[in-house]
Amino acid sequence: MWRRVFDQRVLDLPDALQYLGNMNRLRTQVGIIGSGPAGLLLSHLLAQRGIESIILERQSRAHVEARIRAGVLEQGTVDLLRQLGLGERMDREGIVHEGFSMAFSGRKERIDMHKLTGKSVMIYGQTELTKDLINARLAAGGAIHYECPVLAVEEYQSSQPRIIYEQEGQRKELVCDFVAGCDGYHGAARKSVAQNRMQLFEKVYPFGWLGILADVPPVDHELIYASHERGFALCSMRSHTRSRYYVQCSLDDRVENWTDDAFWDELRRRLPPECAEKLVTGPRLEMSIAPLRSFVVEPMRFGNLFLAGDAAHIVPPTGAKGLNLAVSDVYYLARALAAFYGEKRSDLLDRYSEVALRRVWKAVRFSWWYTMLMHRFDDDQISHRLQVAELEYVASSEAAQTVMAENYVGLAFDD
Ligand SMILES: Cc1cc2nc3c(=O)[nH]c(=O)nc-3n(C[C@H](O)[C@H](O)[C@H](O)COP(=O)(O)OP(=O)(O)OC[C@H]3O[C@@H](n4cnc5c(N)ncnc54)[C@H](O)[C@@H]3O)c2cc1C
Repeated sequence: MWRRVFDQRVLDLPDALQYLGNMNRLRTQVGIIGSGPAGLLLSHLLAQRGIESIILERQSRAHVEARIRAGVLEQGTVDLLRQLGLGERMDREGIVHEGFSMAFSGRKERIDMHKLTGKSVMIYGQTELTKDLINARLAAGGAIHYECPVLAVEEYQSSQPRIIYEQEGQRKELVCDFVAGCDGYHGAARKSVAQNRMQLFEKVYPFGWLGILADVPPVDHELIYASHERGFALCSMRSHTRSRYYVQCSLDDRVENWTDDAFWDELRRRLPPECAEKLVTGPRLEMSIAPLRSFVVEPMRFGNLFLAGDAAHIVPPTGAKGLNLAVSDVYYLARALAAFYGEKRSDLLDRYSEVALRRVWKAVRFSWWYTMLMHRFDDDQISHRLQVAELEYVASSEAAQTVMAENYVGLAFDD
């Protein structure tokens, strides 16, 4: 009978059971959950150092590649991608921005990031970056298993943590030395840890962003952040021909409530006249509403389970920091894992949480500050006047602009 079942193999019962068990068990050095920017970049950084990894991703490859999200890469992110040999298409198709504008009280003030810091940012959509990272990883023989939802991480306190996942309806496990939970805010990694072992910090803002993506030329060559009595607006872009615009909306608003024309009219009202006149409109490619929150979990390490990116923290998109924080987390994590495998040192692993969180909190602070400065808060009569006073101060002070620019282009990675 076993001869029939296993075709070319002649197995007795114990061997057959083991064979079946092995079919459902994989082994690697670092098991990565999630193929967003954090998971993908980590697998590249590890491969560069000769460390083996396997990525398990819940969604299909097509789904992951189509998600519309971030679009601003900090200087440090750009430098790291280039250093890994992953920046070729980004350098060809991305747009370098040396400044951005803040609009308020009918005027527009430019922050010259390059003059103030010597640095710039790169406009390159997260969708494109994700495609580049996936293509390069697969071309190098990397293992990414799509449509493999992770159910839990078990025994993460031991030297053999196990990732339990499903593939084609079968329950399987990935045994590894370390687990990197790069599975975003709703992922399974953080949920595998008892709540009483972590501290959660959260602030939910009383509004969301209604965003539209359209194949129209951007209203300006750089981003415009607008503070208006009707609410915040952002004029962003993905390329010279594709624009991404947002308007602040209420938390109970729905995409179904908005026609394209209603969106464009609302955006126009919140921009200074010189910009509103130049706005080119067109049919939506996509429209969605994103709630805004600040969220941090401490620590970011639990035994041999490490959290990185949105799995550990969320920032409101105002400061364009979410994707960039995912990058700095995995930079620190890969460096620590390299020291462990290469030099048998565990001190950097021990310090991962502390070092990553130090940068995370600075970005959380900047994103919170910029969000509070630019959005309309209905509950408080004084806040809009205070916002205008602060915006006028920023517009008139090189010192204040330098603080803004330094944070926007991205703080240095700590040693
Ligand atoms: C709607 C939206 C708009 C955004 N806009 C901006 C912006 O304009 N600017 C900005 O800087 N940031 C923005 N962000 C944030 C930015 O996109 C994220 O910070 C960034 O994607 C973080 O990367 P990550 O790899 O940590 O997480 P993610 O990109 O979320 O990747 C996590 C991956 O894990 C997978 N996963 C989840 N659960 C499981 C599981 N159980 N098993 C296996 N796989 C799993 C997910 O499918 C996903 O592929 C936005 C985010 C959202 C949701």
